[in-house]
Amino acid sequence: MTDKIRNIAIIAHVDHGKTTLVDKLLEAGGAYGAHQEVTERAMDSMDLEKEKGITIKSKNTSIHWNDHTINIIDTPGHADFGGEVERVMKMVDGVFLVVDAYEGPQAQTRFVLKKALAEGLHPIVVVNKVDRDFARPSEVRDMVLELFLDLDASEEQFEAPFFYGSAKNGFFVSDLENDEQKDMIPLLQGIVDSVPAPEAKAEEPFRMLVSNIDWDNYVGRVALGKVLSGQVQKGDNVWLLRKDGTKVRSKITRVFEYGASASEDSAIAAAGNIVGISGFEDIDIGETLALDEKAEALPFVNIDPPTITMQFSINNGPFAGRDGKHVTSRAIRERLDREIKTNISIEVSDAERAGVFNVSARGAMQIAVLVETMRREGFEL
Ligand code: GDP
Repeated sequence: MTDKIRNIAIIAHVDHGKTTLVDKLLEAGGAYGAHQEVTERAMDSMDLEKEKGITIKSKNTSIHWNDHTINIIDTPGHADFGGEVERVMKMVDGVFLVVDAYEGPQAQTRFVLKKALAEGLHPIVVVNKVDRDFARPSEVRDMVLELFLDLDASEEQFEAPFFYGSAKNGFFVSDLENDEQKDMIPLLQGIVDSVPAPEAKAEEPFRMLVSNIDWDNYVGRVALGKVLSGQVQKGDNVWLLRKDGTKVRSKITRVFEYGASASEDSAIAAAGNIVGISGFEDIDIGETLALDEKAEALPFVNIDPPTITMQFSINNGPFAGRDGKHVTSRAIRERLDREIKTNISIEVSDAERAGVFNVSARGAMQIAVLVETMRREGFEL
């Protein structure tokens, strides 16, 4: 099983075609039923993200193709989301760099690409939109190679395969002049050939590091991560090893794989696969799930400390309550508590004045996104 899995992250500048690309790969892998229409875009699922065109949370898409499972994990493009980027990089072995065939690589992707190369991941360069007027794929190839040099890519990374094509038109090839431009298969084959299978120990007891938290309306909190060893399925009892050393045993209520916009029920969480597991109410990023109570908790990536702080408090001005429905400091506190559970790049503490909270993050962008999300949820600004 493990040798049929490929885990890759995807890095793309806004608008270079990441969403279209992932949707076309899903179609090619047959993830959508014949009568099902591709109505929703798989990657951009947060509303705010759609409008601002930025990727905030990392998300998964699983593609099944030719008995392979290919997990594609989205990466946030902005350096402010460093915590998430690092966690994604630890789960994958390869990385897609999607670049517009006219614009070439952009500064915004530099930070994440640098992390990916430093982590030793195998890159695949996808030069998209070759159908555009003034597309200049070979110049863009040189620009990408220059960037690789600049970011200290290893010799092997420098030899990364390049694919050229158009996500919109549904084809990619490695040789634009000579290959037939017909489908997405060369790209899927390219992933299978150039990205190694995950390192995972199928024979050892189940262990997984929780790398992200998701929410499902039916089962509640879903712990996302790569299964490092063993396998589990719905109904199995596993231990949650907490960061503070406490342990809780619980039954797995569901195992998820992420295909398209809906998360499908998958029977088994096998070694090497990236899955979601539900059944733990209070599970957190950085904790370990293990079959064996005596298993050691897995080490967790350290996150750079926050660099900027903003105070959140209730509106005590004369116009309070006019344009928000959540106006109490308790509501703010609860909302911030929820945020820190799924977003470990943010820290919240009580300020000296009662009802005022210090929210710290690694950058202004991250705070701006939180403020805007809360405003839309009905908090008063
Ligand atoms: P994302 O922001 O990286 O997720 O990019 P999207 O997939 O949303 O694509 C951005 C825009 O580029 C959309 O209008 C797409 O229709 C368009 N697009 C995507 N792929 C291609 C392509 O191969 N050729 C052309 N001409 N446009 C494309």
